[in-house]
Amino acid sequence: MMGQSASHRLAGLENCELREGTPLEIDGLEIASVLAPQSPEALVDAILALRAEGLAALVVGGGNRLEVGNLAQRADVLLSTRGLSGVHELDADEGIARLGAGTPLAQARAAAVEAGWELPLDAPGPGATLGGVLAAAATGPRALGYRQPRDVVLGLDVVLGSGDLTRCGGRVVKNVTGYDLAKLYIGSRGTLCVIASAWIRLVPSPQRVLLLEASSADLGAACRAGLRASRFNSARSCVVSFEGDAEPRVLVELAGDETTVVNDADQLHAELETRTVEVAALDAVRARSLGGHRLAVRLPLLPSRFEAVVERLSSHPCSLLAYPGLGYLHVALDRVGDAPGDEFGEGDSMAPWFEMMDEIAREARGGYVVERAPVDLKQQRDVFSTSSSPLPVLKAIKQRFDPDGVLAPGRSAGRI
Ligand SMILES: Cc1cc2nc3c(=O)[nH]c(=O)nc-3n(C[C@H](O)[C@H](O)[C@H](O)COP(=O)(O)OP(=O)(O)OC[C@H]3O[C@@H](n4cnc5c(N)ncnc54)[C@H](O)[C@@H]3O)c2cc1C
Repeated sequence: MMGQSASHRLAGLENCELREGTPLEIDGLEIASVLAPQSPEALVDAILALRAEGLAALVVGGGNRLEVGNLAQRADVLLSTRGLSGVHELDADEGIARLGAGTPLAQARAAAVEAGWELPLDAPGPGATLGGVLAAAATGPRALGYRQPRDVVLGLDVVLGSGDLTRCGGRVVKNVTGYDLAKLYIGSRGTLCVIASAWIRLVPSPQRVLLLEASSADLGAACRAGLRASRFNSARSCVVSFEGDAEPRVLVELAGDETTVVNDADQLHAELETRTVEVAALDAVRARSLGGHRLAVRLPLLPSRFEAVVERLSSHPCSLLAYPGLGYLHVALDRVGDAPGDEFGEGDSMAPWFEMMDEIAREARGGYVVERAPVDLKQQRDVFSTSSSPLPVLKAIKQRFDPDGVLAPGRSAGRI
């Protein structure tokens, strides 16, 4: 048995595509075999086969953010959800949809709009899938209006790492008794289960959407203005962006009925001297601030700490994207200082920077997540700056849901 390729050992699974392609490199691991079950039942068989063969898998949706998490200890195959896609049900009267996990977000959005609703998920990424967004608990700036992914999910069908197909919640959230396990699975990044499908509560399409922008020479003032703007009735998103030498910008998206949007826009204009810009500018700012950098960190913050923390970080050569109303901040950088030798990866040059992040997190009584980093940095540190106290619970949960470590072993906090 030893020495045979993963594909060879998994051949013959029914209703499951198996392909050997150009190896995909994720965090230094090269994975060439792709297993794509075409139904939840085939997914159960695939996971049972992986267990029986002692193989490990990385779940893949659109593949936009496979690098988030600690380094995987092993990964023999990519377990693709592309065969689990489709709009299974869309109730245009109630605004409830049941969608396959592999459904591209763009397709789910279009189906919702056609039925007169909106999909309240705005995570970016070309070809991002519903399952990938839920598994990553990925949010975009519109979470201020849409709320977080866990708030819009009514139910999930999942296959655990043990191979059990289970359902939590459903068409109506009242189906949940006891602990709502969907809250655990959302954000578990493919380490406990594979999400097969989800019931989503859609939101009514707004009558009017307006994106307003203002610049400010003063970053602190921009943060204060952003926080106030986040409290407007129709504020659907509010970001403060700071990119190197450019002036800080505040972008506020208003969405709702015509009267409220126009009233809020007038009030905001009086306060901030805003100009109206194309709605697409919001996604462009986000992509520019977060895309392509060597290191990206997500840091939760109390609204009262925003100004001080943003001022402190802005003295380093980084891009900041702050969501004052949502209580978190993205920090992206390529070097730690302007002097030669400040490129990271050289010796221990990042240590003082991480000490500063640890201090900020301690003051905020929170933790941060290193969402992107070079492999050598990930070898040195846990990307989840969690205190060690929840680790025994995390270990017990992993053991219960994925006893043989089939799903992305090593990727969770504490390298579990
Ligand atoms: C330019 C850019 C900006 C971004 N900005 C943000 C941002 O501001 N905030 C934010 O939160 N995210 C952000 N993201 C992340 C991104 O939106 C999502 O993480 C991604 O789109 C998820 O979709 P995917 O299908 O590509 O998932 P993938 O990248 O394929 O997978 C993401 C994770 O989920 C797991 N997974 C995938 N499908 C399933 C499933 N069905 N069941 C269980 N596990 C699964 C994978 O193993 C992996 O750990 C950004 C991405 C890009 C490219």
